[in-house]
Amino acid sequence: MRSLTEMLKLGAVFRQVVETPDAPPLAPATPRPAAPTTPVPTEPARAPRHFTAPPTGELATYPPPERWDDWVEYESKAWPQKEPRRYMLVPTTCFNCESGCGLLAYVDRQTFQVRKFEGNPVHPGSRGRNCAKGPATINQTYDPERILFPLKRVGPRGSGQWERTTWDAVLDDFATRIRAALQEGRHNEVVYHVGRPGEDGFMERILQAWGVDAHNSHTNVCSAGARLGYDIWMGSDRPSPDHANARFILLLSSHLETGHYFNPHAQRIIEAKMAGAKIAVMDPRLSNTASMADYWLSTYPGSEAAVLLAMARVLLDEELYDRAFVERWVNWEEYLRAERADLEPTFDNFILALKEHYAEFTPEYAEQESGVAAATIVEVARLAGRAGSAFSTHVWRGAASGNLGGWQVARCLFFLNVLTGSVGTPGGTSPNSWDKFVPVPWRKPGPQKVWNELLWPREYPLAHHELSYLLPHFLKEGRGKLSAYFTRVYNPVWTNPDGASWIEVLRDESKIGLHAALTPVWSETAWFADYVLPMGHAGERHDTISYETHSAKWLGYRQPVLRVAREKLGERFEYTYEANPGEVWEEDEWWIELSWRIDPDGSLGIRHYFESPYRPGEKITINEYHQWLFENAVPGLPEAAAAEGLTPFDYMRKYGAFTVADKVYRLHETPVAPAQLDGAEVDEASGIVRKGGAAIGIMRDGQAVTGFPTPSRKLEFYSSTLRDWKWPEYALPTYIKSHVHPENLDRSREEFPLVATFRLPTLIHTRSGNAKWLYEISHTNPLWLHPTDAKRLGVKTGELLKVNTDIGYFVSKVWVTEGIRPGVVACSHHLGRWRLSDTIGCDRWSSALVDLKEEGNGQWRMRQLQGIRPWKSEDPDSERVWWSDAGVHQNMTFAVHPDPLSGMHCWHQKVRLEPVGPNDRYGDIYVDTRRSFEVYREWLAMTRPAPGPGGLRRPLWLLRPYKPAPEAYQLNGAH
Ligand code: SF4
Repeated sequence: MRSLTEMLKLGAVFRQVVETPDAPPLAPATPRPAAPTTPVPTEPARAPRHFTAPPTGELATYPPPERWDDWVEYESKAWPQKEPRRYMLVPTTCFNCESGCGLLAYVDRQTFQVRKFEGNPVHPGSRGRNCAKGPATINQTYDPERILFPLKRVGPRGSGQWERTTWDAVLDDFATRIRAALQEGRHNEVVYHVGRPGEDGFMERILQAWGVDAHNSHTNVCSAGARLGYDIWMGSDRPSPDHANARFILLLSSHLETGHYFNPHAQRIIEAKMAGAKIAVMDPRLSNTASMADYWLSTYPGSEAAVLLAMARVLLDEELYDRAFVERWVNWEEYLRAERADLEPTFDNFILALKEHYAEFTPEYAEQESGVAAATIVEVARLAGRAGSAFSTHVWRGAASGNLGGWQVARCLFFLNVLTGSVGTPGGTSPNSWDKFVPVPWRKPGPQKVWNELLWPREYPLAHHELSYLLPHFLKEGRGKLSAYFTRVYNPVWTNPDGASWIEVLRDESKIGLHAALTPVWSETAWFADYVLPMGHAGERHDTISYETHSAKWLGYRQPVLRVAREKLGERFEYTYEANPGEVWEEDEWWIELSWRIDPDGSLGIRHYFESPYRPGEKITINEYHQWLFENAVPGLPEAAAAEGLTPFDYMRKYGAFTVADKVYRLHETPVAPAQLDGAEVDEASGIVRKGGAAIGIMRDGQAVTGFPTPSRKLEFYSSTLRDWKWPEYALPTYIKSHVHPENLDRSREEFPLVATFRLPTLIHTRSGNAKWLYEISHTNPLWLHPTDAKRLGVKTGELLKVNTDIGYFVSKVWVTEGIRPGVVACSHHLGRWRLSDTIGCDRWSSALVDLKEEGNGQWRMRQLQGIRPWKSEDPDSERVWWSDAGVHQNMTFAVHPDPLSGMHCWHQKVRLEPVGPNDRYGDIYVDTRRSFEVYREWLAMTRPAPGPGGLRRPLWLLRPYKPAPEAYQLNGAH
């Protein structure tokens, strides 16, 4: 809890606490359908431990929680009159990125309109603060372009002809197909493809209950590169930096401003800065993040690992490493045994071997590769070394997702944490699994016994996630077909590379039998679906979520705020859509309902998982699902609730979040519980403690401690996994030259690396298309070009260039800026939305009307017919739209570039810039999908397919979302 003075320093918004007794009596609520009356839960007037309100009449940062059920504010539109209005403030969780920040919905108690979303002060991750995208949830909720009812196509796929249908009809259609697929052993014809999950564990339970290996995520166009680098080190695939307590912070890419866990991390980074920490940012672009840093290292794209290894060398040469930590927690003996049998296995010899191995990574070599001065590299390395255990780092997308071998960037970055002993320490960087809490539901289904090669092909045994963006290529190759395909908050036609190949496959009913787009907003992909099913925004759905925002574990609860407000006032609903706008469903209820219909008599063994734990044999409600979780699966919550006289469910409804554990550090040193040690065995050579064949810890100084979930239970500097799975040259943290390395460019032809990975802080990939405030702020994605390059090319800001890729081109305007290093261009992927119809297909706040022509033989051309224009709607703001630029859709002109190890799409492009011709127009796109298929094959040829040791498809220990049963890992086993 911060003092008010501290909050003022941080720029918090203050408001006067209005005394409720002065407010007029509440008018009766609008009559609703008859429902049994239940009382508003009785809550003692006690503030939760997270937030203390000042006395009435004084200034407060937020409305005090004990008054959220009946909060009074003056009506802003009545100013200068003071007209009090009464609100029910209902906490929920933002759905506009993965940070899971808390929101408070202001529900007008008289009209049951949500008037605004603000921050939830008791949320431990966001602490009452949000980025622009959080409050913009109100735009999404009341967007006049919104899809409010389920739609069914009536013409050919992609023809844009729709009719309203019923949820019953859609559910029955899918239930019949999926039931038939399961009964006929066609499990792999069911695929669920998710863009933004926004929840933890619910979908995995659904799919495992069905027994299918159907989870296909967007991760390989997002973060699979970084994940592999971290997973190899520590058995957890994400970092959790404790920025607030750091003395030195090193960020790769624009993390502070737009990256992963954006607002919760940003506020903590700035706190550390205010307390004296220094920040360094490695990014070819002067991002907003770099502009806040003490050091901007404008690296040539793909050279980051070389710079990081040079820093490691400085730490070694200047003895700035943490000898005790490295000796205790790194698998150095394994490395020496395997690779340096010529040396005595002593720690001193390990350091010697390290210095020899990384001898070539001098600061001067790093300067030559990156363009960053050697002296700066040394200076930053020294700061990291001096920060010691209080050195926090982060990379997520950026360099790790842009380059061939980008996964090694994350590995080299974490190498610095390992050397400085800043793993799991205050101010250091922890495994994400320490700071994330996922409650386990009752009746957890067993793992699926099938392996879906359409998602996990044998060519990519180490891919960190599904090869989801190669689905069109796999289907074109005849590797399989789909009977039931769900895209869920996912827009591959626009988001993925090679979107035209997606269109070709989505239109083909022989490849995809039935496709439903579950989406809160129109999208380019929904246009090619059979059903468009409107799903709820942040204030219209239930989810539990948890993210590694800081060194604590917390659980957030997303709620349908109108339903909750009305239920608190006595109404009852069977389904959330009854309280949502139109017939907007929430996914959780959809999947429960669908599962019930797939197995109505229980003969498939599915129904069992969807029966109520409170009413045996009856279908579970979504409230019961969460009630059970909160009562049984969240340590400390029942006690905290009881202390306030609440049930655990009512506690979560009231506050929307709960801190399960705070100040989580050094968990690898946790002693293994005595009960676990019963029957365990110790491997004398390695010290690994095993029970029933599974490693549960490692002996350190005579005690069994948890260690890390890797094969050695240590941090794996040396990866026997990479060695054994055919990549021995990458067994250590290594610099891999990117596909956009200067050696691969012909500068005489004006070839450049295009940095295509950066976000804009105020936009989301697809879902912000219906947020008018956000598009008013950001609506253009010009090509960043350094003045020296602009001069040579003869272009000025606003003029057009043709950007040629492997498979086509796009035409964009340039922004001449010193914010990009010379010889590099950059373009944000956050803009360039398009629609094929004047009125539907994509929101008019954000999209251009285009003509998309298929010219035959895989050639596609897109031309913008009209930019963004004002239009008439029930929202008067639509007539006030003043911006006209919708940006340019660059991703469609990118071929797929699957990294042969991580499977990550390597986003950066080698492009050739050329002047536009007389027929070129702003926003023009041309692609050739035959050529994109050839590029796919070229990258596929770089892989080293399974089987690995033991005939396995994939190492058993490596993380995989929603793991199948071990027998499915056998390449010649189940399919
Ligand atoms: S960072 Fe912004 S978009 Fe992301 S969850 Fe928080 S408020 Fe929402």
